[in-house]
Amino acid sequence: MRQQLLAATILSALALPAAAADSVLQCGKLFDSRSGTMRGAHSIVVRAGKVAEVLPGRVEATAGARAIDLTDRTCMAGWTDLHVHMAQQSSQQSYSEGFRLDDVDFAFRAVGYAQKTLLAGFTSVRDLGGTVAPHLRDAINQGMVQGPRIWAAGKSIATTGGHADPTNGYNSELSHLLGPPGPTGGVINSVDDARQAVRQRYKDGSDVIKITATGGVLSYAKSADAPQFTVDEVKAIVDTAKDYGYRVAAHAHGEEGMKRAVLGGVTSIEHGTEMSDEVMQLMKQRGTWYVPTIYAGRFVADKAKIDGYFPEIVRPKAVRIGAQIQATAGRAYKAGVKIAFGTDMGVGPHGENAQEFLYMVEAGMPAAYALQAATIHAASVLGVDDQGVVEAGKRADIIAMPGDPLADIASVLKVDFVMKDGAVYREPAR
Ligand SMILES: [Zn+2]
Repeated sequence: MRQQLLAATILSALALPAAAADSVLQCGKLFDSRSGTMRGAHSIVVRAGKVAEVLPGRVEATAGARAIDLTDRTCMAGWTDLHVHMAQQSSQQSYSEGFRLDDVDFAFRAVGYAQKTLLAGFTSVRDLGGTVAPHLRDAINQGMVQGPRIWAAGKSIATTGGHADPTNGYNSELSHLLGPPGPTGGVINSVDDARQAVRQRYKDGSDVIKITATGGVLSYAKSADAPQFTVDEVKAIVDTAKDYGYRVAAHAHGEEGMKRAVLGGVTSIEHGTEMSDEVMQLMKQRGTWYVPTIYAGRFVADKAKIDGYFPEIVRPKAVRIGAQIQATAGRAYKAGVKIAFGTDMGVGPHGENAQEFLYMVEAGMPAAYALQAATIHAASVLGVDDQGVVEAGKRADIIAMPGDPLADIASVLKVDFVMKDGAVYREPAR
């Protein structure tokens, strides 16, 4: 199929006028993510992986172009999930698998996860932690694996014993054998370490920096709330990241660590569980984004009910933290904090990412705002302006679904057309 498309592109370049289109998507409705409004029938002309024109009504395909009939569907820009872990999917075995499996095993799993994510309508993701993601990104870009466009953090940056210290929970013999991970392994304890850790991520091929500003739920450690970086350490990370054109995402549950991350200049707060009114005001002043990941909160609170699913050190954190995130997201929206879309998939099952839209609406956000969170807001968080809207000159990342998600948000679960960079990965059976 891709080869046929490629052949069509070459043919059109040789034999047809330069203006020839590759495909014309005839959409029944088109969600305009810039204004947050639903428009009527529109046709999207796609050429060389980009949107060439967006025309009102149903436009017939010109010679050499393929018409794609989506007249009974709603089209919109492909979604971005700003918080995934492509190489993981939590289960009762997660805590022992790290000792039994190699990165190669996780990489093979990631191939399937990436495909599920793309086919669910997510044409881009930001992978916030994991050493497989930069390699998966390259394999996807080279056309060897089907998946979303990936912005990869590589190994998250933590502090000793903190969330994402990879040696948490190891016995003393193993800990001594391995030694402290240090900045190369993503664990810092000073401003100098902070700079080294960012430079190492650059060397490793990261696209974005992730820090764990407070404890976390699933790490083998007692606290999910404790602050784990000084403001100076966060500032050193953010400043060094700027040298490489990187933005910084901060995982945070507790208020103090969240505040330090915002003061240190991070681009986004992830989870944000115990976000106070004061922190919300600070985020508004500083233009800090909030990526709630309600899905993960609900998922861990639910699994904590099952005896033995989590180690006993994790279970109370999952119960307490997990249950709060959705309400925090609702309060933050009301307070006017800018919200972008993320699920923390890898905690939950890849491919179910769109369920987050339903949770956002349940939390009090309008459906249109939730859709903007995964499109135009997400592009802002990534710092790009060539995606997240269906407009001439932008990437042809376009999805479609039956129904109207502004009238019934559950329509987002029925995506059956996915185009990324002008190539079709999924289309309705006709
Ligand atoms: Zn995460």
